[in-house]
Amino acid sequence: MIAEVIVDISTSEIDKVFDYLIPEDLSINLGDRVEVNFAGRNIEGIVINLKETSSFDFNKLKPINKRLDDFTAILPEMIDLMWYMQKKYNLRLADILRLFIPVQLRGGRVRELKRNAVRLKSGIDFDEALSKIKPNAVAQRGVLARLFDIPWEWQSALAQEFGASPIKTLEEKGFIEIFEQTVERKPYTEIVGMGEKHKLTDEQAAAVQEIMKGGENLLFGVTGSGKTEVYLDCIEKVLEMGKTAIMLVPEISLTPQTMNRFRARFGDNVALLHSGLSAGERYDEWLSLLKGKAKIAVGARSAIYAPMQNIGIIIIDEEHDSSYTSESNPRYDTAVIAEYRAKYNDAVLVKGSATPSIASFKRAIDGQSRLVTMKNRVNKRVLPEIEIVDMCAEIKKGNRTILSEAFVDGLKATLSRGEQAMVFINRRGYSSFMMCRKCGYVLKCTQCDVSLTWHREEKRLKCHYCGSQFTVPSVCPSCGSDSIRYGRDGTEKIVADLQKIFPTTKFIRMDNDTTRGKTGHLSILTAFRNGEADVLVGTQMIAKGHDFPKVTFVGILDADMSLYIGDYMAIERTFQLVTQVAGRAGRDVLAGRVILQSYSPNHYVFHFASKNDYEGFYRKEINVREVTNFPPFVELVRILLSGENEDDVFLLTKTLTGETRKLSEQYKTAFVSLKAMKSPVKKVENKFRYQIMMKIKPEFEDEVIPLIYDITNKNKLKGVLVFVEQNPQNLN
Ligand code: ADP
Ligand code: ZN
Ligand code: ZN
Repeated sequence: MIAEVIVDISTSEIDKVFDYLIPEDLSINLGDRVEVNFAGRNIEGIVINLKETSSFDFNKLKPINKRLDDFTAILPEMIDLMWYMQKKYNLRLADILRLFIPVQLRGGRVRELKRNAVRLKSGIDFDEALSKIKPNAVAQRGVLARLFDIPWEWQSALAQEFGASPIKTLEEKGFIEIFEQTVERKPYTEIVGMGEKHKLTDEQAAAVQEIMKGGENLLFGVTGSGKTEVYLDCIEKVLEMGKTAIMLVPEISLTPQTMNRFRARFGDNVALLHSGLSAGERYDEWLSLLKGKAKIAVGARSAIYAPMQNIGIIIIDEEHDSSYTSESNPRYDTAVIAEYRAKYNDAVLVKGSATPSIASFKRAIDGQSRLVTMKNRVNKRVLPEIEIVDMCAEIKKGNRTILSEAFVDGLKATLSRGEQAMVFINRRGYSSFMMCRKCGYVLKCTQCDVSLTWHREEKRLKCHYCGSQFTVPSVCPSCGSDSIRYGRDGTEKIVADLQKIFPTTKFIRMDNDTTRGKTGHLSILTAFRNGEADVLVGTQMIAKGHDFPKVTFVGILDADMSLYIGDYMAIERTFQLVTQVAGRAGRDVLAGRVILQSYSPNHYVFHFASKNDYEGFYRKEINVREVTNFPPFVELVRILLSGENEDDVFLLTKTLTGETRKLSEQYKTAFVSLKAMKSPVKKVENKFRYQIMMKIKPEFEDEVIPLIYDITNKNKLKGVLVFVEQNPQNLN
């Protein structure tokens, strides 16, 4: 037999399939990791096909050296998915395979963790053994006594208590044996309890019933309507049928509370997959899914590749969240992969949100998915009132700060009642940029075409694109004047300002700067939940799915921030953000109040958001999209080019523009528009960026996009990276 092997997937310089001979004495399956000799080196590979014959000279084929695991790492379904993704997204096979297995598996960096354990030898009579040990050998007797009625104990634990030699002696006497035991690295085992199962409300019960009819569903439920409880019930039903489940949540929502609800309900049936786990933990969780020990995968985006069979349900919570789109190589849309796996397994697919993406809601309206609605909060709790504050009017009143009178009064009242508040500002750092007051020069990153943000605590200017840090120049690099001033306020500045007004109040800040490390955001959320702070100030990180019963007041300080970023999704994102942030207020018995500050208070997005009118917003927004020719009415395709030599990038952009233009003339009815330009952010990490933007009618997508791939695959230039993106979330 011949195996087709993708080699060395950890570096993936080579994306070619090679034929290897399977030796008679080796049993190799499709999807196995194997060791092969390639160009004189022994390297890892993955078997992606088995066949009888090769088009190469049989005698020259090298044999596979060995199988690397005692399990098949990649299931047949995933091999099919690999081909699907290659076609759909023009990805390299090695890059796709890398998504499917934990990084720890490649290169043999982590194995199952095994440690020595000790147990009584089988068939040993305990009393007889004890009688053969001298009464004064207390330690030996102690070890035996310990092992009397337990299956085994770690050798290290026994040695610590009784010393190493009695264990040795007992082993020599043949009373006990030492063996290797796998150590299960279970993350978050400290989480127990609090897993009360609620009796579903009528609305929830109806939703479960609808969803379990199968197919694709959009669970449209207002914030606090109890969507998680619906998911849990659906999963329970699926498990009863002997099937498995995948539950996706945005990375930031993977809080102890979320995990707790799953662990408490399903115990060890749950495996958690996310970047916060240690390498060993992740590997073990992954393996427990592959081996069928765990039946539910809970995780962020990458958990869609969980190695599971017989999937009964796939759930995408907060389906509108932009983290479900991978924006770096390999680029893909999690929902597309979920649709594929759901079809393959004949599984139920659920996308859930209080603010579905415009595209998903249209799918439901068009009948491509079932719309399941939950209009009420659990226990008839009311949605918070949103009051819009006109910030231009504040300026006219003489208030030049970013804090309106209504906001300060509201916060004061909340704190005096001993309740908690959340303050949302969509900028981290102290101020968004620094500018010369004399010549208007804005301090920019030397490697990227973006302005730097001042971080006061660290006394540094930071580039939020590449992470570079700079000290503040004492004089303007352009004109030499010493009047460099700060731009708009960020989280750090807000906390400083609020602290002045509320000197005894405890504030806690949550943004990219304060949440570094494995448990950064968890510890902040836990501290806030435990009442160690009164007010949580943060970026959009605080918006997602958190459930804080004592929060009754929410301030949205600069709601316009996300509105004017010149991107067709800006308004949709603003609606989602405002609704999600506002939804944090009054989730328990205490009613909530929300202050939304805006410099464009009459914008329709705030009008609909303040009335909790998603459907009204949808009708308005879908109209705008149709008239202006934006998704979901067209497929937005962007060819993004980048490289250190601008001339080369420009040259290739010209070639590709010419070729795509030819294509657009051939497919006149398919192309709505085609434009080539410098990218809005012209330089990132010293690489110049150009782009070709195309709008294509959706019904031609499957026909035309592969032809665009052909063009980019055939026209390459050394040093210029080219990516084709479909409906990118970010057009920078
Ligand atoms: P959503 O995800 O829709 O915003 P959650 O699932 O977080 O809402 O539920 C909101 C709150 O209501 C949670 O504290 C949850 O424990 C509670 N809850 C959910 N379902 C019920 C129910 N049937 N009875 C009582 N409380 C419930
Ligand atoms: Zn930079
Ligand atoms: Zn200047």
